[in-house]
Amino acid sequence: MVNYIKKYDVIVVGGGHAGVEAALASARMGASTLMITQNIETIGQMSCNPAIGGIGKGHLVKEIDALDGVMALAADHAGIHFKTLNASKGPAVQATRVQADRKLYKNFIRQYVEQQENLDIMQQEVEDLVLDGSCITGVVTNMHLIIAAPKVILTTGTFLGGKLFSGDSVMSGGRSAEAPSIKLAQRLRALPFRMGRLKTGTPARLDKRTLNYKMFEEQAGDLIRNPFSFLSTTDDHPAQISCFITHTTEETFNIVKKNLHLSAMYCGQIEGKGPRYCPSFEDKVVRFADKKTHQVFIEPEGLDLLEVYPNGISTSLPISIQLPFIRSIKGFENALMTRFAYAVEYDYIDPRDLLPTLETKYIQGLYCAGQINGTTGYEEAAGQGLIAGMNAVLSLSNKSFVPLRSESYLGVMIDDLTSQGTIEPYRMFTSRAEYRLLLREDNADDRLTPLGVTLGVVGSKRAAAVASQHQRYNQLKQKLTQIRPGTQENFTALCRDALFDIQEQRSVLALLSKPQIQSSKIFDILCQDKVMMPIEHRLFKKISAEMLYAGYIDRHLEEISKIKKHESMTIPKAFDYRSIKGLSHEALEKLLATMPYTLGQASRIQGITPSAISLLLAHLKKKEQIYG
Ligand code: FAD
Repeated sequence: MVNYIKKYDVIVVGGGHAGVEAALASARMGASTLMITQNIETIGQMSCNPAIGGIGKGHLVKEIDALDGVMALAADHAGIHFKTLNASKGPAVQATRVQADRKLYKNFIRQYVEQQENLDIMQQEVEDLVLDGSCITGVVTNMHLIIAAPKVILTTGTFLGGKLFSGDSVMSGGRSAEAPSIKLAQRLRALPFRMGRLKTGTPARLDKRTLNYKMFEEQAGDLIRNPFSFLSTTDDHPAQISCFITHTTEETFNIVKKNLHLSAMYCGQIEGKGPRYCPSFEDKVVRFADKKTHQVFIEPEGLDLLEVYPNGISTSLPISIQLPFIRSIKGFENALMTRFAYAVEYDYIDPRDLLPTLETKYIQGLYCAGQINGTTGYEEAAGQGLIAGMNAVLSLSNKSFVPLRSESYLGVMIDDLTSQGTIEPYRMFTSRAEYRLLLREDNADDRLTPLGVTLGVVGSKRAAAVASQHQRYNQLKQKLTQIRPGTQENFTALCRDALFDIQEQRSVLALLSKPQIQSSKIFDILCQDKVMMPIEHRLFKKISAEMLYAGYIDRHLEEISKIKKHESMTIPKAFDYRSIKGLSHEALEKLLATMPYTLGQASRIQGITPSAISLLLAHLKKKEQIYG
């Protein structure tokens, strides 16, 4: 064993989406940081579909961006197809999704990481953790280097004890053509963490020259593209191309049904549970047996890459069945595969063994973020990485940051994970957030950037950009207050169609609060007005959303301020739940299993009743009187 020459404040293990944000956040906050990863060439690699965002996930990306993370910037510089999902629904559930060029994305991330001050990178595999009692003091690598740091963040993704499956073929691996992390998995299993197995899968990749595009429906990107990052403009976007849609056939269904017993998932090879919302094609055949056709999205992997990603047909069928399966799909009759589909099964840590700072409960200074915590998806991983990175640095000066559910999707995700745990890969959706009218993509910067500046994770460039954006927002709002709809023919017609008395419409701003009128129609009219131009589309969208939800938002804010009083009441680490008289056996068991950090977190554990919370509150207050 050799002691490495340099000591760090923070070591981040892994260079995936969680690792990148964790390392960047830590370094931005001034901590000397090391990112150790098995292969430097795979930093920022997209293991599955090269797409960023989506419903709930887009919200997370905007929040990561608001805290100065890199994901949205990379998506802008690599995005070849932009789409606002749920565009016809309310602004709270609208979400940005970007199909990225995987090469451009990875290159952007790699360059960004390399240019970050205070951040070193090293290609090694971490095999062991160095502990002093219950505190971490460093890591040991496969080349027997001991590297010291008081804070270590594990972001090992699907690599811990990873196994790859195609039919009955099983190989050790973290993902295609990459080695698993076995020794670290064994080490973690020997510690008091509750560990489990999960699985996820990916489809084959196809040679685009062998597909019959005449059979597909074209899906062009949005005409008005809203950049992902608050710092980007559309000038940052590369060339734009289309995606396509096709359908599976009855033959596809029959092939899979006939060979179901050969699928690794269905022949008992895989014990881990897969993602409910990204089911394999085998799952679709079993769960939706009466549905004879499914959509397949044909998504380019890049501008000048040969491969396309057929989204919706991940499988763990044997390789021999994969070609007939693929060729049964419309337009894929002559398709050739460049890479075969496979499933991966891996270890994860029960996230109830983590504090909401993402520090583990048993080893002080050890943090976990990303797929290792039972989530699936780049965005969920990146969000956790950012929070873990921030907390690792804050804890060096005995501080912490716990994002609240009422403040961000980051807060919702971390609270869900650490309070409820998960037995299947956790994915973000807008429906998980009770205050989703407040947590919109358009206001993530308002919600988080000022906080990020205070905590030291947001740099001066973003702070200045957001302040200047705020000024432009106020100017636009002012202009919208000044235009009286009655003075313009187009607005008069719009109001007439919505059966409004035009005389009563005080301003265009007030008109935006009417759900009967689509804000996009108002935008189109304003775009014809020379006095109004240029109008920043994203600021207009933000103002529209605020006007539309104004009443509900006030009610939400009132509710939040009431809850806040008890929400953040912390429960001492060694609190003796057994001393609460009258607590049901079930409540006691669940509280002991989670050991919640705050009263708010306790109230969200499944099966914990309001009466159990009252008892807990009374007990905490009594203790406060005695010791406070
Ligand atoms: P990863 O991106 O996996 O990165 C882990 C990093 O840790 C890698 O750099 C690795 O080299 C490094 N590492 C591991 N162990 C060590 C060690 N001991 N020492 C040093 N470095 C180490 N997401 C979806 O949303 N939907 C899907 O359908 C989907 N399908 C997927 C299918 C497959 C086959 C795979 C592999 C992933 C899929 N994903 C899917 C998940 C998505 O890729 C992950 O959620 C995301 O990449 C997780 O990010 P992460 O940073 O936690 O881990």
